[in-house]
Parts: sequence; C-alpha cells; structure tokens
Amino acid sequence: MPELPEVESIARKLKTQLLGKTIQEARLHWPRTLVFPTARKFSRWIKGQVVKDVTRRAKYFILRLSDFSLLIHLRMSGDLLIKEGKIKPEKHDRLILSLLSADNRLSNLVFNDTRKFGRVWLTASPEDVLGKLGPEPLSRAFTPGWLHTALHNKHRLLKPLLLDQTFLAGLGNIYADESLHLAKIHPLAASDSVTVDQAQALHDAIRKVLKEGIRRNGASFDWVYRGGEYQNYFRVYDRAGKPCPVCGTNIERIIVGQRSTHFCPTCQMLS
Ligand SMILES: [Zn+2]
Repeated sequence: MPELPEVESIARKLKTQLLGKTIQEARLHWPRTLVFPTARKFSRWIKGQVVKDVTRRAKYFILRLSDFSLLIHLRMSGDLLIKEGKIKPEKHDRLILSLLSADNRLSNLVFNDTRKFGRVWLTASPEDVLGKLGPEPLSRAFTPGWLHTALHNKHRLLKPLLLDQTFLAGLGNIYADESLHLAKIHPLAASDSVTVDQAQALHDAIRKVLKEGIRRNGASFDWVYRGGEYQNYFRVYDRAGKPCPVCGTNIERIIVGQRSTHFCPTCQMLS
C-alpha cells in the first residue's frame, strides 16, 4: 500500500499535470468507489471545477477545486494515471475525469483499482473525512515531546500504534519497520515503556526515513506505483534472513496485528 512518501511523490507529479485544468466530465465505472456524494450529485458538482492545487494529508490525495475538495485514497491497489486525448475505459478503471487545459487540450485523470478498495470523496468540508487523523510527521506539530506523551497515553504495542492513522498520519508497514530499526526499538515494545531518549530517537528516525523516501520518490514495491527507488535502500523491510546493515545479524520477520514485521533481534532488543 502506498504510504506518505509514495502519496507525496505522486501528488507532486499530479500537481504539475493538473494545475489550472477544468474538469469537463466524470465517468464513474464502479459506483462503490465513490463514498460521497451520490453519483448524480458528483457528476453535477464536479463539472466545470478548476484544479487549484494538489496536496496530501496522511495517505489521502487532496485535489483542491474551485468550490470542493476531491479526496482520493488508493488503499491496496489503486493507481492514478494521466492519459492524453479521448480514451476508452480499460479493465479496472473505476473513475475517469476528463480535463481541458487553457489551450483546449484534453487529458484524463484515471483512477484504476484492481481490488476495488480505493475510495473517492467530493466535499466542500474535507475535515469531515480528514478530521480524525493524527498529526503529520513532517509538520511542526510532531515533536519528540508530543510523541513521548502520546505514546504514554496509550497502552499499545508500538508497531500497530504507529500504523494507526488516528495516532500518527502517513506511516504504513514499510516506513514503520524502517523507523523502528533506525531508532533501535523493538516493534513489540509497549508504547508506554518508551523512554524520553527512545521517543527522541524514534521521532528523528520517522522523519529521516520519510524524507529519504520522498527524496527517492517513494518505493516501487508489490503494488502498482512504479516511480520510486527507495526499495533499493531498505534496512529491514522485506529483508528477512538477510544481514542487518548495522550489525550483520539476520533480519527476522514476525507477524504483528496481521502485518508482517521486520526487525534486527540484536539492534532492536525487547527490554
Ligand atoms: Zn542489527
């Protein structure tokens, strides 16, 4: 699943391709892709809207339009493609928006999604959808002090808590494992056992791996996104049985909360 760096990378690219274009028409091929509003209102509301900005919050794309925000979550297998000219829908295309540029060139934003988990919202109040999300880890709100206090307000295993989007926004399986390894903390540590020093290390590690991920345009890995190269720099993720880049111990893989979790048993001792 795309995480913060992948969504950020795609959003930055989409911005250069969509900014200032006017939406002519929406073709919804799989109604359940649309959460809000009804299909009929969606087509009516979105027609004539101009793309003012393309940003990201957690793992959501936000297309800020003249009067609404179009929110898109790719979930497991969603993909956003730009195609020029008149096009026919392909298999697994769930939603196609046709756009016109100022010089009358036609292009399309295609939401393709094999497994149909991806979702779209069109709303004038995006906070209704995004309001419950935790802080952005690259924002000023995310400080070592906040993290330490927030971890101690919970009594949860660390890895599942880091994946909880209402706790902290944008981390998924890859960047959570990478952060915990860099911070030398065991994924099964209790959140309220994390010391001030460990919270500082984890804070710094989360920011470092996310920034590194963005710098490498995210990771192209077991899903449809093809743009990034961070998969070539994984420390522990998907490296079970291979040597830890720090100490050489073989990386272990365990299942935590139904998600595969990779860590170094030497660097990340459970205290
Ligand atoms: Zn190690």
